[in-house]
Amino acid sequence: MAEVDEVRQEARRNTRARFEQWAKNPSCDANTLSAVHNVRLDAAAREIGLSPSFGQSPFAIARGNRFEAGLFVEQAARLRQALETKGCLLPSSSGFLDLRLKMNGGQNVSTVDEALRLTQEWLQRIACDPGTAESLVAAPMIRIPKGVILPEALLIIDAVTVTLGDAMRPRVTVGEIKVFPDRGGHTEPHQIATARAQAGVYRHALELAVLELGLAGDIDIATDGFLVFTWPGSNSPSVRAGEDLTYQAIRAERGFQRLEEVAHSLVRTDDFAADNPTLIQRVLDADTNYSEACLSFCDLAPRCHKHALDADDAIVLGMEAKRLLGETPVARALELLNGAVPVDDREYDLQRQLGLS
Ligand code: SF4
Repeated sequence: MAEVDEVRQEARRNTRARFEQWAKNPSCDANTLSAVHNVRLDAAAREIGLSPSFGQSPFAIARGNRFEAGLFVEQAARLRQALETKGCLLPSSSGFLDLRLKMNGGQNVSTVDEALRLTQEWLQRIACDPGTAESLVAAPMIRIPKGVILPEALLIIDAVTVTLGDAMRPRVTVGEIKVFPDRGGHTEPHQIATARAQAGVYRHALELAVLELGLAGDIDIATDGFLVFTWPGSNSPSVRAGEDLTYQAIRAERGFQRLEEVAHSLVRTDDFAADNPTLIQRVLDADTNYSEACLSFCDLAPRCHKHALDADDAIVLGMEAKRLLGETPVARALELLNGAVPVDDREYDLQRQLGLS
């Protein structure tokens, strides 16, 4: 039973990662089914004899876990100090609420249901009595209303701060913790973008949760957030404050809506069980829409790239070429480049765009 619970928790925790995976190629049915059903793409790749090459190394995961756990030791003293230094919390702030599951390093919360209940009670309490709000909360857990990412979607927010705004209204600011090194102006742009995107998902989920609880008039969700990276070569936190999450929250909102629409058109009522071999087969049998982005995340990319090559699809030359050539096969485009006579308006237009007429 404990093992089943852990599997469920892991599947749920993956909600954010699954959403991000889906967002990399939302036009591919196989990718959508994989995200909705939590069927891992590496498992699907293994099934057809491909060697998976994506996924985080166990060492990177272990280092990330160590970094995060260290931030919350002794009532989150290290994280608090870093947040105070960057003005995310007032000097001498106080109060720490630890909602982390025991399996994730917490002390008090044993199950997902307990974490959900305690998070809800925390929001209701600070809405009613803002003076009791702890300034720092680890791992509040949100169930995303409306059943996005079937069969359920739970998010664990890394950390939030609570400050008191106008008229003593509690203001909750989401934070994303990453083991990425903060190199000031030289920090990897895609690492910042990834962390911001994830924080935007948190912000949107928190807004939905507060709305569903009827607390939107009592709690403000900050439009910005904070990112916690590491100082290069150390496990000390480096906080990036005031990260604007407006675009990322809108992206999350639209993405969730779209994913739900697509999911409803693809999902069958008889297939709710991750790791079910028939689900892996469904992912393998689903329509695909290969693009350059696939190469960055999907273990099925070699198969889909080969299909595109076999079909002489211009996508193998990249998105720019695909935009230019559309449905014209690469071989035909080469013929037109070499002076073949166009047979229709599309080919005339293509030759003109290629500067040949
Ligand atoms: S590689 Fe294939 S299955 Fe994977 S996302 Fe791209 S098109 Fe879909």
